[in-house]
Amino acid sequence: MTANSPQLWQQVIDKVRTWARLNSIWAVHFNSGSCNGCDIEILATLTPRYDVERLGVKLYGSPRHADVLIVTGPVTRQARERLIRTYEQMPEPKFVVSVGSCSISGGVFDGCYNVGGSVDEVIPVDVYIPGCPPRPEAIIDGIIQLLKDLQGGKPRSAVRPNVAAELPS
Ligand code: SF4
Repeated sequence: MTANSPQLWQQVIDKVRTWARLNSIWAVHFNSGSCNGCDIEILATLTPRYDVERLGVKLYGSPRHADVLIVTGPVTRQARERLIRTYEQMPEPKFVVSVGSCSISGGVFDGCYNVGGSVDEVIPVDVYIPGCPPRPEAIIDGIIQLLKDLQGGKPRSAVRPNVAAELPS
């Protein structure tokens, strides 16, 4: 590969893009049917005590400018189409973080007449953060996992955790 080769320039551009993305993740938050417990923990993660912005993560109000979609709650029948539309409006490459046991498995709402299922039954998920609700430290850990995987050039192949053990019987 010579210094003027198009492949070399493409590699340089890709590296600059990845560097920029890693240092400036813009996230959009979608509540697909949560009880608001997980949403409050996400807010705590953004506020000065936990301050996820120090990692370059910024909450943004539009999917059209977002890299990451953070979803909380089971997917209700009412929210399903909106979740798909929000995901489709995001530019590529895009990543999905599923926060809370309900978003992973339906949680305590599983089987309710108005619940359609988990997030990964509707859109692809890159990171799962279990808990009811997960603490801000767990949310930050999940975001760091995503950043590490992006640094390696690809999102990890997410494995859906077994959250059944966390649920009340
Ligand atoms: S995981 Fe817990 S806190 Fe989060 S939406 Fe479900 S019930 Fe609420």
